[in-house]
Amino acid sequence: MIVILKESHTPQQFDSLCGWLKAQRLDIQVNKGVRQTVLGLLGDTTQLDADLLRALEIVEDVKRVSEPYKKANRKFHPANTVIKVGDAEIGGGVPVLIAGPCSVESRAQILSVAQSVKAAGATLLRGGAFKPRTSPYDFQGMRAEGIELLLEAKKETGLPIVTEIMDASQLPLFEDVDIIQVGARNMQNFEMLKELGRTKKPVLLKRGLSSTVKELLMSAEYIMAGGNPNVILCERGIRTFETATRNTLDISVVPVLHELSHLPVIVDPSHATGVYRYVHPLAVAAVAAGADGLIIEVHNDPEHALCDGPQSLKPEAFAALAEQVFAIAPYAVNR
Ligand code: PEP
Ligand code: MN
Repeated sequence: MIVILKESHTPQQFDSLCGWLKAQRLDIQVNKGVRQTVLGLLGDTTQLDADLLRALEIVEDVKRVSEPYKKANRKFHPANTVIKVGDAEIGGGVPVLIAGPCSVESRAQILSVAQSVKAAGATLLRGGAFKPRTSPYDFQGMRAEGIELLLEAKKETGLPIVTEIMDASQLPLFEDVDIIQVGARNMQNFEMLKELGRTKKPVLLKRGLSSTVKELLMSAEYIMAGGNPNVILCERGIRTFETATRNTLDISVVPVLHELSHLPVIVDPSHATGVYRYVHPLAVAAVAAGADGLIIEVHNDPEHALCDGPQSLKPEAFAALAEQVFAIAPYAVNR
């Protein structure tokens, strides 16, 4: 349930309402917007008399939130959430570029890619250390050593780092990681989501391969319910009947998620298509549709990449993409 307060109310009226609601064993999330204050009520609100609340002088309106996701819901938190990481403001109006290789392969590779994506305008560096591969015989990532190399690249370039966690037991290794990525395959690893809810680190939550928008938002809710409000949603393509691309980029989720949720939405055209030639057009389309950022795979030598070479851009191609993305950003749909 949400309680919308009248613009003019006294601190005493506010305290007395909150005190009464707490006595009903409800948790209150207070969202002070520019124009209005909204109280999001969490807990069993079935016994609350909405008409009684509505009759209070301080109250403008009361609405029941029928969706099962509450903290991630735009109704609970009307203003956009902006997540600050280093120089980047994700959801702050300017599209944020996260770029780097699918996996960290060596010191020379990650340092070289980090430098070139930074020069092209990326504000965060990606790179997988723990890799969720379909085949157990494929390269599984450099694991702890990969994180060390990412931290070295961060020190060298100043770019904050984004890397994927595959199991909650790996969390101690993520101490200095700026954004923890939850991959598509782990979107519904609820125990891990609960652990991430206990941290305050931003989480980049990828949409599962065959997950609905509601399921994605429920996974975000798991993290937020634990007390971590810093969730970034990521569309990375879904399974459809189409085989011409690795997945099908569901660009419609950009406006859909912006309507349903206040959380930032970023798009991954690399995993969505699996083909480097399609990454640039879809990146531009995503930003035009209002995406808050992109996560793009870039490799200095895609032909010899240990993972996802066919969808990786060379640094020059990424620079061309970045230039066009920043050029069209002022014309993108506002949210
Ligand atoms: C990745 O970003 O490297 C990755 C494995 O992505 P996804 O979980 O979307 O497949
Ligand atoms: Mn990849």
